[in-house]
Amino acid sequence: MSWLLTRLLAGVLAMAAGGILGYLLGRPTSSPVFSALLGGAAGVALAALIDALRGARLMAWLRGTQEGQAPRDTGFWGELGYRVERSIRQREQGLAQERLRLEQFLSAIEASPNGVLLLDAAGQIVWCNSVAADHFGLDPQRDRRQPVTNLVRAPAFVACLQQGRFDEAVSFPKPRHDGTLSVLVRPYGEGMKLVLSQDVTDRERNEAMRRDFVANVSHEIRTPLTVLAGFLETMANLPLTEAERKRVLGLMQQQTQRMQTLVSDLLTLAQLEGSPRPTVDRWVALEPLFLQVEADARALSGGRHALQVDHPTGVQIAGAQAELFSAVMNLLNNAVRYTPEGGSIELRWRLLPDGGGEILVRDTGPGIAREHLPRLTERFYRVDGSRSRETGGTGLGLSIVKHVVQRHGGELDIQSEPGKGSRFRLLLPAARVRLVQVADTPAEAA
Ligand code: ADP
Repeated sequence: MSWLLTRLLAGVLAMAAGGILGYLLGRPTSSPVFSALLGGAAGVALAALIDALRGARLMAWLRGTQEGQAPRDTGFWGELGYRVERSIRQREQGLAQERLRLEQFLSAIEASPNGVLLLDAAGQIVWCNSVAADHFGLDPQRDRRQPVTNLVRAPAFVACLQQGRFDEAVSFPKPRHDGTLSVLVRPYGEGMKLVLSQDVTDRERNEAMRRDFVANVSHEIRTPLTVLAGFLETMANLPLTEAERKRVLGLMQQQTQRMQTLVSDLLTLAQLEGSPRPTVDRWVALEPLFLQVEADARALSGGRHALQVDHPTGVQIAGAQAELFSAVMNLLNNAVRYTPEGGSIELRWRLLPDGGGEILVRDTGPGIAREHLPRLTERFYRVDGSRSRETGGTGLGLSIVKHVVQRHGGELDIQSEPGKGSRFRLLLPAARVRLVQVADTPAEAA
């Protein structure tokens, strides 16, 4: 009540001052009492006017943007202005903190590798992060407040929302047809929904590759097994002459050999995939390795090809000897198998200008058409299936070569043209190549 008392006091004082002034001014006239009453009323009116002006100043500040200080008056209006300003500033601070927290929360969702889309009770887009925008082909600003099913029309997604089946993720092609999305819808609040999306293109591709691989392996093993079973039946049920028996046994041996090679290649691949990269502190001398593969290739060729092999004296490669041997041997093996009799095959070594190295296997064989080149290193990919199998190929050779060279930090380069032979290059990085004095070159230096 102090505010009322002070204001009443101020009114009374203004009235008294006005009355006294009126009385003093009216004394020379015949009616000093009337002048005193008039002066008192004028005093009260003046006090009320000043009060109203101070109130109006505060009201103008409140109606404005409320920036800066409220009018700093004394008394009632001053205190009212100060208190209103303080409560506005506190509310602004609270709002700023809330906004900051919301921004931090949204940027945390933005950083999520998954898409996040918020829908209101009517199924309209409230907010989405950029991953979801990319997944669903949305524009976060333009598409806000749009019904999501107008923009994402995948039947599986629409059915999931309409039927309220939120217990399982649904998969469907991305709207731009460049992959597959897995989407999980979770209801929250009052009818609102949280849509989580994940790009499962790679996972699906790997799963398809795994299925293909298992199917291919089964097929590759089943074929020789069927042949073997047939021969066994023949031997068990038919009286064979000694010559026939020998021929059948020979064919059975061939099929067994085929299965053995396949299993051995599969084991090599599994080992390459399951073991850590070869370290860079174990050095393999290249010259003895070349001599070894040359001997094996000559035996395989049986004199049908002209073989030219470099002698990379003093060259050492950091890596795994068995893997490097397997890679070079696979390339030579292919060259021998696919190059017709009379053709020539080269195994070369070259130091590259950047300090890296190149192991090259070139042949004058039939060559490979351009469209096959990118797929040659896929498991079981063959240009000519029957030719590959006839010559004991498994379809895994180049895939092993690629794995080996990649594990050594390098790459496999293939160049070939039908009728012009093929050129396979193992490119090794400088960190894995060194030259040593010939006298210091042991067979395999640790
Ligand atoms: P394969 O065991 O069938 O030889 P690879 O993975 O080693 O399997 O090779 C894949 C395919 O690449 C082969 O089936 C063959 O068609 C082709 N190929 C590989 N090397 C040569 C080559 N030197 N000349 C011609 N074709 C080749």
